[in-house]
Amino acid sequence: MTVRTRFAPSPTGYLHVGGARTALFCYLHARKHGGQFVLRIEDTDLERSTAESVNAILEGMTWLGLDYDEGPFYQTQRFDRYNAVIDELLSKGLAYRCDCPKERLEKLRVDQMARKQKPRYDGHCRHRPVDPETPHVIRFKNPDDGVVIVDDLIRGRVPFSNAELDDLIIRRSDGAPTYNLSVVVDDADMAITHVIRGDDHLNNTPRQINILHALGFEPPRYSHVPMILGDDGARLSKRHGAVSVIAYRDMGYLPEALLNYLVRLGWSHGDEEIFSVERMIELFEISDVNKSASSFNTSKLDWLNQQYLQNAEPARVARLLSPHMGRLDIDPSTGPDLVDVIKAQAARAKTLVELAEISAFCYRDFETFDEGSAKKHLRLVAREPLEKLRAAFDLLALEDWTPEQLKRVVERITEELAVNMGKVAQPLRVAIVGRAASPGIEETLMLVGKEATLRRIDKALVYIAERGGEG
Ligand code: GLU
Repeated sequence: MTVRTRFAPSPTGYLHVGGARTALFCYLHARKHGGQFVLRIEDTDLERSTAESVNAILEGMTWLGLDYDEGPFYQTQRFDRYNAVIDELLSKGLAYRCDCPKERLEKLRVDQMARKQKPRYDGHCRHRPVDPETPHVIRFKNPDDGVVIVDDLIRGRVPFSNAELDDLIIRRSDGAPTYNLSVVVDDADMAITHVIRGDDHLNNTPRQINILHALGFEPPRYSHVPMILGDDGARLSKRHGAVSVIAYRDMGYLPEALLNYLVRLGWSHGDEEIFSVERMIELFEISDVNKSASSFNTSKLDWLNQQYLQNAEPARVARLLSPHMGRLDIDPSTGPDLVDVIKAQAARAKTLVELAEISAFCYRDFETFDEGSAKKHLRLVAREPLEKLRAAFDLLALEDWTPEQLKRVVERITEELAVNMGKVAQPLRVAIVGRAASPGIEETLMLVGKEATLRRIDKALVYIAERGGEG
């Protein structure tokens, strides 16, 4: 039997990290077993589904590289099929029309609540003839007794008593099939062998199994993935910050870092932290996913992203970094090769956004010095080293603007002044970068270039003259 999984988002918002993790688990399970991964868009809720949301989901999947083998299938294009199945259930006496007015259902609910019973439809119309021409819904005739066992690959056996389940509506009065019906028909028609989804659907599963049995289909295996919590223990939501996958792209995370982070939310393999997608496919077992919820932890994601940034191919990072430079109004073609900047800087940034920010100095003069760095390093004592450096750099021909020559200049002036290297290099660094942190000094000078170096040293000298204070 070929393993087939599906990711079945409702397009009522962006692709959020919880959905992306579910999609990743579906993808990994299919790939691990040499199977297929299907994408199905559950857009039957016409009021809440939007084309933008479909696009956001597809964009998120593409960015993460979660390639699907089939789909996207759209449920709105399959209404005829769902209606044919509903008619089949009706004709076999496995479903029935119900025209109970709202008031009756409401009174039933209130009475049941007063008796401390779980509100459920009482089967009033099961044995009543209902005129098909009057407004009505169709209900599935749920078995009255017995137990449905959900043999969940993550949670184990979860029994549901049929007495707890009522006759669920499978077609609304406006003629639209409902979620539980369309999911069941699709899972059967698409030959899905493994349903992996959020555990908010666990209560739907016994209902879906009953419908599948009524239609003569073998239910798939189910795995209900626990939810993701925010750092305060509440279900992860917008209130905790970004939850959309595309927002993570825009914040400068690499897709492989986010995937690595997501797979570790609720799954682990010994104390390994770094998993390429190939390694995930090799090791992932859906039955090893934790039963309990996991918490989203941004600093862990930052750490992973930094690892991936350092090890990624610089030319690729350059392509991904360009738009972030663009957001700072920097056109990287106007300065040093972005690949050289990345080689010098990648280890210093957690995200592409940060990498762009700390690299801006290579392309344009900064506006103000970092206060702490200037206070410490742009003092009167720094004037002489800076003046000497400026004079020496000015004398260097452009073809001598090389790491070796630049290093020699800095060393020579350090020796002349008989001070330690920091007393020369740190003021120089603050002068040309604006703050005390940067790559090695000669690499930094290379990236900034001669003209800007001289101009920025001048600016630092002015700063010292005006505000350099004593010492
Ligand atoms: N469309 C459902 C949702 O987005 C998922 C249904 C399923 O996986 O069975 O929550």
